[in-house]
Amino acid sequence: MPPDTTLIDTFGRVATDLRVSLTDRCNLRCSYCMPPEGLDWLPKPEILTDEEVVRLVRVAVTLLGVTEVRYTGGEPLLRRGLIDIVRGTAALRPRPEISLTTNGIGLVRLAEPLRSAGLDRINVSLDTLDRDVFIRLAHRDRLSDVQAGLAAAARGGLAPVKVNTVLMRGVNEDEAVPLLRYCLDRGYQLRFIEQMPLDAQHGWRRENMVTADEILARLTGVFDLIPDDPRDRGSAPAETFIVGGHTGPDGRPGRVGVIGSVTRPFCGACDRVRLTADGQIRNCLFAREESDLRAALRAGASDDETADRWRKAMWTKRPGHGIDDPTFLQPARPMSAIGG
Ligand code: SAM
Repeated sequence: MPPDTTLIDTFGRVATDLRVSLTDRCNLRCSYCMPPEGLDWLPKPEILTDEEVVRLVRVAVTLLGVTEVRYTGGEPLLRRGLIDIVRGTAALRPRPEISLTTNGIGLVRLAEPLRSAGLDRINVSLDTLDRDVFIRLAHRDRLSDVQAGLAAAARGGLAPVKVNTVLMRGVNEDEAVPLLRYCLDRGYQLRFIEQMPLDAQHGWRRENMVTADEILARLTGVFDLIPDDPRDRGSAPAETFIVGGHTGPDGRPGRVGVIGSVTRPFCGACDRVRLTADGQIRNCLFAREESDLRAALRAGASDDETADRWRKAMWTKRPGHGIDDPTFLQPARPMSAIGG
């Protein structure tokens, strides 16, 4: 492994985008992620403290070239120290870009304090506009809280708010068009994500996945989608389109994205690394191995030693997620515990 100040792997990819899971708990039970009864949550002593999170992010930013930090979970708004963690992250130099992925429940109260603490951008997950479908999909009656959270994020200056949607066959696949209309009307940028085999119940079936092709076919029947120049995509997972004839409340053209994680993988351009709530580095969403930074920290490792361990963990990143390989095995941890 070359001595370096970056998180480079053997294929020359450099990770600059750190996803940090702040908790494995969630207040929804979206069926593509978690069973209705929930999971055995991580015991508190195993979870990184707020100080440990900020220290590891500092190591990533100051010693390893990370430029963007996204807090996620589980549901990150359930993490009591979230505002302090965001504030601590915003105080780092060089200052990373700070974003959050959330189901939006609680944003009415938290959007403004998060913005003041230094949050730059937000993604809110919204899979349906129908209350009954929401209850069936997420096993909780919280659609109005999510929608109120979205509005609060936009009001609180976290625009452009991005919305993540997973379509599931026989559940919400017919909502691609109404969801896009809803987002365009409010100036939210919608991203459809193909469902991945990351649910705790191991219920994912390829034939049930609503593919990027299918989503685009549904949209192009109704909207005029003008592809953005692929050369501008960089490491972004979404293929994006301008929606002709639609201008948001801010005067900008409406946009939509499709993330074909399974059928249009973008592993060759991947610039991500993940830190779980219990302090494990995962060099890929689908990695089968983790590297334990929490044990190192708690055993007294210096920042340089921790950075070294982190670099080693990245070096062995595989070329692709391998979902199409006959030998593919779903990771032992579900999405909620890895951090989506
Ligand atoms: N609780 C937060 C939320 O709802 O956004 C953050 C964590 S959640 C795991 C992050 C994102 O992962 C959400 O947009 C969710 O839709 C997506 N997700 C979860 N399981 C997925 C799966 N099996 N396939 C594709 N996306 C998934």
